[in-house]
Amino acid sequence: MKYLSTRGGAQPQEFCDILLGGLAPDGGLYLPESYPQVAAQLTEWRDLSYAELTFRILRLFISDIPEADLRIICEKTYTAQTYRWSRDPAKAGDIAPLTTLEPDFSLLELSNGPTLAFKDMAMQLLGNLFEYVLEQRGETINILGATSGDTGSAAEYAMRGKHNVRVFMLSPEGRMSAFQRAQMYSLQDANIFNLAVRGMFDDAQDIVKAVSNDADFKTKFKIGAVNSINWARVAAQIVYYFKGYFEATRSNEEQVTFCVPSGNFGNICAGHVARMMGLPISKLVLATNENNVLDEFFRSGIYRPRTTAETRVTSSPSMDISKASNFERFIFDLVGRDATVVRELWREVDAGGSFNLADGPFAKRLPEFGFVSASSSHADRVATIRDIWERYGLMIDPHTADGIKVAREYRTAGIPMIVLETAQAVKFAETIQEALGRDPLRPKELEGLENLPQRVELIDAAVEEIKRIIVREC
Ligand SMILES: *Cc1c(COP(=O)(O)O)cnc(C)c1O
Repeated sequence: MKYLSTRGGAQPQEFCDILLGGLAPDGGLYLPESYPQVAAQLTEWRDLSYAELTFRILRLFISDIPEADLRIICEKTYTAQTYRWSRDPAKAGDIAPLTTLEPDFSLLELSNGPTLAFKDMAMQLLGNLFEYVLEQRGETINILGATSGDTGSAAEYAMRGKHNVRVFMLSPEGRMSAFQRAQMYSLQDANIFNLAVRGMFDDAQDIVKAVSNDADFKTKFKIGAVNSINWARVAAQIVYYFKGYFEATRSNEEQVTFCVPSGNFGNICAGHVARMMGLPISKLVLATNENNVLDEFFRSGIYRPRTTAETRVTSSPSMDISKASNFERFIFDLVGRDATVVRELWREVDAGGSFNLADGPFAKRLPEFGFVSASSSHADRVATIRDIWERYGLMIDPHTADGIKVAREYRTAGIPMIVLETAQAVKFAETIQEALGRDPLRPKELEGLENLPQRVELIDAAVEEIKRIIVREC
């Protein structure tokens, strides 16, 4: 399988060549040149283990890793030991288990990995793929990233102790929850560097961009990224849509609908790809919080990224985005994979503007892709957390609450609705306190996490500071 850029300006590449890079050289995102069609394989795949299902799907997208090696990587990644943190002891070690709330209404638990958010599902695979490819090529990489919470911890737990990889992760001082800070800063691995920046998330993000834009520095110090535009992350996420489908149905004649709490459009992009591959998905329901850029697009055809000043800080912080970095992948498919059109549209976006597809030919095609959307507010989130606790005795996190609130608006008789559970409540204690008047539940092994010694360096929000640290450690 070869990979193309959504802007048409890059040579087709193999999977391992795009694995370690970020954007394509023309500023676009990589996508496979076609989507493998798998409807005929569903019966054979229905009862496979998660690791084997991952292997069967990924081999269709990866032609430059020998199959025997790829299978080992999948088996090493998707183990009961790694995904042992289910809030239901009976499901500990199940990978992406389904919890039925009512007939045709269920939660797909994706937050049972080491950092208790769905990003572990893909990031753990990325860690093993990186290690494999770097070893093969005799290369090293210094991963530089900025996090508001979930991405940074998932990256660190995926890369800790890995050969030939260092992680430099910037986080805004004092902005993450105490639990999130403890998760990251308590890591003592020699290849992990936590840097708390005096400033906001955007300051940290700007520094990362500035360092990555310094081509000489980037090459000399082999700077890489693991952000959500990485195709391998999207590819790994395709698998749990199949898993959820198989658990919620009994035959491949049935359809299901997924509801996805969304920010950068990475998670739901994988659902879109699964649907394009022939998985019988009726609708993809996109849920946003108050930062409703994407909801606005699916309702009006207008995509208008927000300014930093317009972006709200909410109680589902991992969905607080001003623009959705994976959205360009979907638009590429929507416009019939015409890179010229994408280039035109993103000329506007990259200049701080917007685009409107409402009146053109593409609006007519939009329904073919199955997307619907809605948004949710802080009050909705709190009410939903309370309702789910009272009704089913289940404690959900604020992002999952956004999903459930929106999913309830789109239920259709006879079609199972599967809400993706993207994090565990313990990561967001403040909102749980507000909703339930008590502390969130947490896995036994993580009791006292906040009391462990922490390893973090406080730095000014300055490009030179981070460069100095990278030089010092390399
Ligand atoms: C990252 C994240 C999201 C948003 O996912 P995208 O792939 O950016 O759309 C939602 N919920 C949680 C808990 C997350 O960590």
